[in-house]
Amino acid sequence: MSKNYKITLLPGDGIGGEIIQVAVAVLEAIAPKFDLSFQFEAALVGGAAIDATGQPLPSETLTVCQQSDAILLAAVGGHKWDTLPSELRPEQALLGLRAGLGLFANLRPAKVLPQLIDASSLKKEIVEGVDILVVRELTGGIYFGKPKGIFTDEHGMRRGVNTMAYTEPEIDRIAKVAYTAAMKRQGILCSVDKANVLEVSQLWRERVTNLAADYPNVKLSHMYVDNAAMQLLRYPKQFDVIVTGNLFGDILSDAAAMLTGSIGMLPSASLGEPNTPGVFEPVHGSAPDIAGKDLANPLAQVLSAAMMLRYGLNEAAAADYIETAVMQLLDSGKRTGDIMAVGCQQVGCQAMGAALLELLSSGL
Ligand code: NAD
Repeated sequence: MSKNYKITLLPGDGIGGEIIQVAVAVLEAIAPKFDLSFQFEAALVGGAAIDATGQPLPSETLTVCQQSDAILLAAVGGHKWDTLPSELRPEQALLGLRAGLGLFANLRPAKVLPQLIDASSLKKEIVEGVDILVVRELTGGIYFGKPKGIFTDEHGMRRGVNTMAYTEPEIDRIAKVAYTAAMKRQGILCSVDKANVLEVSQLWRERVTNLAADYPNVKLSHMYVDNAAMQLLRYPKQFDVIVTGNLFGDILSDAAAMLTGSIGMLPSASLGEPNTPGVFEPVHGSAPDIAGKDLANPLAQVLSAAMMLRYGLNEAAAADYIETAVMQLLDSGKRTGDIMAVGCQQVGCQAMGAALLELLSSGL
């Protein structure tokens, strides 16, 4: 009996439809080999949903997502909706999905692929072999802590306030995601905080340390965030998994991503409690400048589907298979414009997808 998974597809806007089509074809192609079957259901999100319903995340879409095993999202947004009030903008859909699905963990891998090493702005010997996963807490910390706002005192002086706060359960649940991810990788976890200055970080460090006993195969270390920023540029190979809070993770995950230099290649995952559906999407946006021109790189979306298999559905072998095929595709010299290099052959989104399917059907 094959395992059946219900997958919600959210193509969204811009290049979304073009790239998600490739990822779906890839999932369908590998399904028989791993005794899987996928039931796909597409739903409206972002600007496309605003045009059809007036809402960036219609309630029907959220319901379909909640009833599925995983959600594959492309991207939302575009100039057409840029003048709408902020609560009606396409990007609100992402916040609605996070809240509606309880997505508290954001996983962003930054892997420097040997075939694309020249795309990095850092020296080859520094970035060669880099393979980092940043686990960022997504629904707490300074972006959500109370009090927040701009307050005026009795002398008329205004004061801007945000509060960085984490409860013990919030720290424990993100730490468990990071430990579990580390176990699926090299077993090295670095927790990043600012415990020399911030009490919230002192509690963070204490809770992450306490959990270490439950994961004897994971080697835990701690680093202050300012040092972590330096170390990412100085010697990024020392990192396997980094776990950190919302603000620090926002900054460090972008810095880590730039080690790779190729935005069209970067996937991400947002996870909630175990056995609830996660959202898997490229790091890049809807790229309206190239939408509809068959120029988009579909590989970040394909690698997001691989992350869905690994972290959302626990189908690691199928994820490995897709990732190997992507590496072989790059070895073959085929490139979309964003990752084009001397001596390679430039192709469009569809041709890139077709070449990948050919590799998958050849058995690799
Ligand atoms: P973007 O990531 O869409 O594009 C930045 C540049 O990278 C563009 O030149 C684009 O052509 C290129 N690019 C991006 N993805 C590519 C791909 N797969 N293949 C080839 N080239 C690619 O960022 P932006 O231009 O700042 O934003 C465009 C829209 O996307 C905005 O409305 C923004 O709000 C939205 N956005 C959405 C998300 C999301 O849905 N998670 C994330 C970022 C931006």
